[in-house]
Amino acid sequence: MLTMQKISKIYQTDLVETHALREFDLNVEKGEFVSVTGPSGSGKTTFLNIAGLLETASAGNYELDGQLINQLSDKARSKLRNEKIGFIFQGFNLIPDLSLYENVEVPLRYRGLNRQDRKQRIEQALEQVGLAARMKHVPSQLSGGQQQRVAIARALAGQPKILFADEPTGNLDSLMARQVMELLEKINMQGTTIVMVTHDPELARRAGRNIQIVDGQVCDYTFYQKQAV
Ligand code: ADP
Ligand code: ADP
Repeated sequence: MLTMQKISKIYQTDLVETHALREFDLNVEKGEFVSVTGPSGSGKTTFLNIAGLLETASAGNYELDGQLINQLSDKARSKLRNEKIGFIFQGFNLIPDLSLYENVEVPLRYRGLNRQDRKQRIEQALEQVGLAARMKHVPSQLSGGQQQRVAIARALAGQPKILFADEPTGNLDSLMARQVMELLEKINMQGTTIVMVTHDPELARRAGRNIQIVDGQVCDYTFYQKQAV
């Protein structure tokens, strides 16, 4: 699904050069659920942003779903991002004035889907996260865990091949974090590849595989057996 070979990222600010990623190698298969851990500043977000086509690498090869990313124009990259990638963030990033329905609709409008197709996808996605009955509510009427589920519905409505999650449970108490994790597990079981950055060792262990990033490199691969529930 995703292959990175010797990916480097250098941030240049005034006189300071930061090597956020150094010859970073990683392979993620279709259908995997990979958790990413590592100290603050080690390059986790940089990795996720490059993998998710929000940023470009300074050097190295990146292939996503059979397509080499290096030579793509900005436009081709955004198109690929819209078609194949879903994102969820620690801060949910919902628009406060819009209903849940309208929040999920935003990326679908960008894709030029007609109203009927949008409606079907929105209702299906909200159904999937258990919030169909709340579609007319605005985000402030929901708990943090519910808001994150709306953000997940927004990502799912795009029918992504791969979902990138940056600390998706970072703002949630442990019960809500577990519920969001269960939802991600369900989505993964249905075939979506997931890559999730987390600080929570318990959640990291629940993924199919955990990788650690230290100083901009993958320093440890830990394979976890899926536990029988
Ligand atoms: P980013 O992922 O945006 O680069 P950080 O990795 O620094 O940011 O941290 C993301 C969030 O996790 C921050 O709010 C930070 O306070 C919190 N955090 C950082 N380290 C830990 C830790 N060891 N345990 C729990 N929370 C942490
Ligand atoms: P993590 O998510 O593990 O906390 P990051 O990927 O956010 O780590 O950051 C890795 C390193 O790159 C850090 O030293 C950080 O300060 C630096 N960095 C990240 N983004 C930028 C940027 N836009 N400009 C300059 N330096 C950056």
